[in-house]
Order: sequence, then structure tokens, then C-alpha cells
Amino acid sequence: MNFNVISPKSTPELLDLISQHQDNNFRFCAGGTDLLLEIKKQPSDDLTVINLAQLDDRLFTSIAKDDKYFRLGALVSANQIINDNELRRMYPVLYESADKLASRQIRQVATIGGNICTASPAGDIACALVALEAQCEILAVDRSVRIVPLSQFFLGVRKTNLKKNEILRSIIIPNIGQQGKIHSGFIKVGTRRSMEIAVVSLAFHLQTNKTDEIIQAGIAIGSIAPVIKFCQSACDYLKDRKLAEIGPAESEAFASKALKYASPISDIRASAWYRSEVLFNISKSIFEQ
Ligand SMILES: Cc1cc2nc3c(=O)[nH]c(=O)nc-3n(C[C@H](O)[C@H](O)[C@H](O)COP(=O)(O)OP(=O)(O)OC[C@H]3O[C@@H](n4cnc5c(N)ncnc54)[C@H](O)[C@@H]3O)c2cc1C
Repeated sequence: MNFNVISPKSTPELLDLISQHQDNNFRFCAGGTDLLLEIKKQPSDDLTVINLAQLDDRLFTSIAKDDKYFRLGALVSANQIINDNELRRMYPVLYESADKLASRQIRQVATIGGNICTASPAGDIACALVALEAQCEILAVDRSVRIVPLSQFFLGVRKTNLKKNEILRSIIIPNIGQQGKIHSGFIKVGTRRSMEIAVVSLAFHLQTNKTDEIIQAGIAIGSIAPVIKFCQSACDYLKDRKLAEIGPAESEAFASKALKYASPISDIRASAWYRSEVLFNISKSIFEQ
């Protein structure tokens, strides 16, 4: 492997570099856990890697909160998410997705931005963030910023809505405050217990009011379609129902709605039939927890 690496330290420097490389073959590198494997598989001699690891800009690197949202920089690592107690309390789905990603060593460097921009249907943190109806804040070389719902950011396997003159700067999660209960989690089914990419995953985040009615429902599924899917009709089905009154019949109706968003394939790791069965069963199971 032979490639040129540049490590900008500030955002103006980064944007200048992106601008200068518009006619060249370049890639961003955050933690490098996906990118380096990709470069190894498909080496190219004219590649420039823009290494983001030394970037000193809190909008890229930190977790911030106000009344309306949580803002996570694209360079926030899986371990930073795991270690943030407030995020863990507010969004257990996000904590669990980060905690189930790969190994401790990989979680130390793997970033949210990398998990999203690699656009794998099996991205764990990306799946949780789709359930949370997160939005992408995208910065362009002319310093303009656009916001795209994460569920619309994915265009296909390894394809995103990002243009060559843009970079993902941060992720914004709406913060609707807490009234009643939060019922939230990430279920990942693989072929073994650790270091495993999901065969099927389900991210759920339900919030109730003081009288136990579901006022916010976010459901996303991974590894079962070319992109991570937000299951709108399954969410609509849950809204205004009392969480404690969801019984077996309602759970099955909900699971059938989630399944409609699946378009699984059979591959070396699982058949399409198996993936559908698993999705149906894990969807039902969220009300038993
Ligand atoms: C052994 C192993 C196990 C793994 N297990 C899991 C797992 O269980 N679950 C899971 O979800 N993933 C897993 N992965 C994949 C990987 O670790 C994650 O997707 C990780 O979050 C990627 O983050 P990164 O910072 O390393 O990304 P990088 O490799 O640095 O980048 C990934 C892609 O995103 C682009 N990119 C990065 N940051 C930005 C940005 N800010 N703006 C625009 N583009 C950007 C890069 O150009 C590249 O195309 C595993 C990988 C390995 C090697």
C-alpha cells in the first residue's frame, strides 16, 4: 500500500485541502477501521488520505447538549458514547449500539462519522441513530451547512448523499425531554457472540408520557435491506398506545409492520428466510423486556 497522508489541524485547513483535491482521488480517514481494510482490498497508487484524527474543532470532536438537541461530532468515538452517562440515560439504544460494536480496542478509535459514512446496512451506531431520527450536519468547502435526516443520507450499500466537496461534521439528535418512561434498546443478532457484524439488528426508542401513552416511537432495522430503514408505519402503530397494555396480539401486529420494511438477501452468513424470521421475533420481543 502506498498512499499520501495529510493531517489538517483546523477546519479552515481541512476545507482548503478538500477544495484543492476536488480533481484528485482522496478519502477521509477518521478511525481508519473501515477505510484501511478497504484500501488493502483495493489499493490505488494515486490515493491521498485526509486524516481527520488531529483535527482540533469541538464541532467535530465533542458531545454537546442544550434544551432542544444533543450534538455529537462526527469524530466522537464509540467509547466516548459509552462513557457519557447522560447519553446513556437518555438514549440507551445509542449506548447499547456502541457497546455492541466490535471489540474494546476498535471502539476506542471507531467514530460515529465513520460508522455512518461507510454506509453499511449493518452499521450498529448508524442504526441506533436512525431510530433516534438523528440529522446529519454537512459542511461544504464554501463553509455552507446543510442538514439531512440520517434516514435519507443512505442511498444504497456504501453510497451516501455526501458530495465530493462536503464532509459530515456532526449528528444532531432531537431532545424532547423526559416525561414518563424511556423504553429503548439495541438488539443485534450475529453468528457468534463477539466481533461480529449483525445478521439482523433492531434499534428501538420509545418514550411515554406520565400516563404511559407512547408519545415518541423510533424503530430502525439493520442488515436486512440495502440501507438501514426507519419503520414509519410500525412507529405510527405504537403512538398513543399505553406501553404496559401492549400484549401478544399488538406485538405481532407491530412486528408484521416492521417486517414490511425488510428486503433481505441470502448470503454466506444467513438466508433471507432466517433473517425475516429473526426480525419478526426480535420485534415482538421488545415488549417482553
Ligand atoms: C474487526 C472489525 C470489527 C467490526 N465490527 C463492527 C461492528 O460490530 N459493528 C459495526 O457497526 N461496525 C463494525 N466494524 C466497522 C467499523 O469499525 C465501524 O464502521 C466504525 O464505526 C468506522 O469508523 P472509523 O472512524 O474507523 O471510520 P473510517 O474507517 O475512518 O472511515 C469509514 C468511511 O467513512 C468515511 N468518513 C469517516 N469520517 C467521515 C466524515 N466525518 N465525513 C465524511 N466521510 C467520513 C471514510 O472516508 C470512509 O469511507 C468493524 C470493523 C472491524 C475492522
